[in-house]
Amino acid sequence: MYEAASEITTVGAGISVWKRTWTILKDLGLDIELAKKAIEPPVDAPKPGLTFRRSDQPEPGYNFYQMMNPYGAITLHRVDVVDVLRAKIPKSYPIYTSKRLQSYSRQPDGSITMHFADGSSAVTDILIGADGIRSPTRQSLFRAMAADDGVTDPAKLQAIDKETGPVWTGTLAYRSLIPAEKLESLYPGHQACRIGMAYLGKNKHIVAYPISQGRLINCVPFSTVVGGEGTTFNGKWVADVSTQEVIDCFSNFEEEAQALTKCMEDPTRWAIHAMTPLPHYASGRVAIIGDAAHAMATHLGAGAGQAIEDVYILGRLLAHPSATLDKAPDILRIYERVRLPFASGVAAECAATGYLYEFNGPAYGGAECEGLRELGKQIEKQWEWHWTKDFREDWRRAETLLSEALG
Ligand SMILES: Cc1cc2nc3c(=O)[nH]c(=O)nc-3n(C[C@H](O)[C@H](O)[C@H](O)COP(=O)(O)OP(=O)(O)OC[C@H]3O[C@@H](n4cnc5c(N)ncnc54)[C@H](O)[C@@H]3O)c2cc1C
Repeated sequence: MYEAASEITTVGAGISVWKRTWTILKDLGLDIELAKKAIEPPVDAPKPGLTFRRSDQPEPGYNFYQMMNPYGAITLHRVDVVDVLRAKIPKSYPIYTSKRLQSYSRQPDGSITMHFADGSSAVTDILIGADGIRSPTRQSLFRAMAADDGVTDPAKLQAIDKETGPVWTGTLAYRSLIPAEKLESLYPGHQACRIGMAYLGKNKHIVAYPISQGRLINCVPFSTVVGGEGTTFNGKWVADVSTQEVIDCFSNFEEEAQALTKCMEDPTRWAIHAMTPLPHYASGRVAIIGDAAHAMATHLGAGAGQAIEDVYILGRLLAHPSATLDKAPDILRIYERVRLPFASGVAAECAATGYLYEFNGPAYGGAECEGLRELGKQIEKQWEWHWTKDFREDWRRAETLLSEALG
């Protein structure tokens, strides 16, 4: 494993995990330790999910829809997830930090040479690019495929980079963890100290839910720049900003929502980028997974779960007793066949849900409570795949394709 950063860690914030992903974590034997870190372990029974509230008004807003999660969700601190995973990596598996991949090249014997920013290189049989939304593995992959098609014109190659690269969704997300005590003292009885809340308004919304056994509130205010979708974001994709910037952005929201922005400490601002669906996730002995393959809008809390699905399918295929190195290209293609259509579908649903949250979707029936309840139902439908589509079917399909490919 080669990591660009100087240590294996993550940006400290919360993450929601849903039934599909939980099934995998259970299969991997990680559920017990992760459940201990959660505010409460997932239950196999209906449980309240996010509560939707109209908030873009000076007077107190109102809760208009209570989403139910038939199989519950689990909310975790990202650092806790990384700690649990890191502790499971066998000591014999080398991890190299401060190794930023720049590109790779294919060798005549089929092996792959990785080229790093510090001038060093290393050789591998199979390369799995899990290098996030700006993935250099992805860029090299599509350039290699273009080379196979005889494309050498630099302008054409640049156009390919652009087509297969991320685009700005037009949305800015502010992220910070709030100590529950601080919120409670500013706004006694604040709902986000107990339950997951979504404070909705025109072109803006705030998602807030308790994590770390209720000691912290994960708070993510979103603001959409009208006309920004698909344009180039000028500026740093992730920047430290002042709390005042967030307060100003949500100054037209009710007091309960503003209490959250006032309590945010050292917020960061993320320009949310996403990928348009790629035609491929693999070529030869190279594959991309996670955000490198399908970075998506955040509105269904799905990106990390989709990355974990990729890893599980690909990992089990590669670890299959009949898998051999000469079959690696077939195996990576099976991973692509199973995962690409599903992840592309999820990405489309994520984008559509963002419009609904910010009163821009076709289901917006007006500001009145009745219209908003209809909107709530539509939003709930967007989430249902998390618990109605069985992940194990995807694995069974992958296994069938593998048996066919290996004869
Ligand atoms: C505001 C927000 C809220 C979210 N909430 C949720 C949620 O609730 N649930 C959910 O499932 N998902 C959520 N997501 C999405 C989720 O965070 C991402 O989909 C997930 O982190 C993708 O994981 P990844 O490993 O593919 O990429 P990343 O998390 O970006 O990790 C990439 C890794 O590769 C390293 N790297 C990068 N470039 C190189 C290089 N050149 N060489 C070597 N190493 C490199 C990086 O340092 C990093 O360690 C959210 C995202 C945002 C922005």
